[in-house]
Amino acid sequence: MDIPRIFNIAESAHRIHNPFTPEKFATLGVALRLENGTRMLDLGSGSGEMLCTWARDHDIIGTGIDMSQLFTEQAKLRAVELGVADQVRFIHGDAVGYVSDEKVGVAACVGATWIGGGVVGTIELLARSLRTGGIILIGEPYWRQLPPTEDVVKGGLANSISDFLILPELLASFGHIGCDVVEMVLADQDGWDRYEAAKWLTMRRWLEANPDDELANEVRAKLTSEPERYAAYTREYLGWGVFALMLR
Ligand code: SAH
Repeated sequence: MDIPRIFNIAESAHRIHNPFTPEKFATLGVALRLENGTRMLDLGSGSGEMLCTWARDHDIIGTGIDMSQLFTEQAKLRAVELGVADQVRFIHGDAVGYVSDEKVGVAACVGATWIGGGVVGTIELLARSLRTGGIILIGEPYWRQLPPTEDVVKGGLANSISDFLILPELLASFGHIGCDVVEMVLADQDGWDRYEAAKWLTMRRWLEANPDDELANEVRAKLTSEPERYAAYTREYLGWGVFALMLR
């Protein structure tokens, strides 16, 4: 079981698999006023940077589940590197339907809301693991500005304009399903560059090391087209943020 290999290739050198930077995760950790010993669940935990750094900085404990074997291995190594391997646990697996045995103070899905079939379903799923008064974290894109044409929608890698909302609508949508938005930290274009542009050097080096791989043509095509596509669409039109929610 794994995610499509192209992601494991392009993001093999990423610690954070979304437009957040280490500074943004640090800001969010402080903003949430995490108490020592807070138990966390992270669905789609990637390479584990959020759980590992918050274990180091705020003494949280937690579990992350991710379908990428590579990212999960990297998360375990990162926990050892930061000296928090006894606080965080990373499971390689499908997080669809995952509910923790023990209730958690923070239940997160940061950039993987397809796990619950969208934002609403993911909030419902996370709520099943949440203790009373706990916080749900959702990392999700929104339109920075509404795309004027279908080309821009597709160029921003959405299927339709309705895939995302503009920020005020996204915030309102949480209220419509009975959640208070209690904090948010938004990514910026520099953060997008760290996420997207970092893939290019990784792809280039991978191509040099794997010229005969069955994915070489696909990676070559991506490396050629991505910088322009990204600058024209994603960087201009897509915002991204982590939203902290409490059930009313
Ligand atoms: N939250 C992480 C990773 C975000 S990228 C971070 O902030 O860095 C999305 C992640 O979801 C990837 O790591 C991918 O491997 C994982 N993923 C995709 N489908 C999944 C599934 N069904 N179950 C668990 N993880 C999944």
